[in-house]
Amino acid sequence: MEISKLEKEMENNLSALGNLVFMQYKGEEGLEDEVDRLLQSTRELETEMAELHEQIARLNPKPPTCPSCQTQLPYVAKFCYICGTKIVDDNPAG
Ligand SMILES: [Zn+2]
Repeated sequence: MEISKLEKEMENNLSALGNLVFMQYKGEEGLEDEVDRLLQSTRELETEMAELHEQIARLNPKPPTCPSCQTQLPYVAKFCYICGTKIVDDNPAG
């Protein structure tokens, strides 16, 4: 799964950033560009991950939940099998 690759990359970026900030704190100079670059790429990774999560959510729509008793129901359910509440299809186009 591509998202775990991005998460790994994100982790690496963050730990590299941590190192750089600590080096700066100790008085190392000339690290601003590198910090900037890492911050930017981490931000991009974050956006990319958010988009992927969205795509995954679209591909795997959650099964309906009974609005009355919150029971999780099968995709095809028209009525709750526990309390009989009618399940409203909130995606009539699909
Ligand atoms: Zn119910």
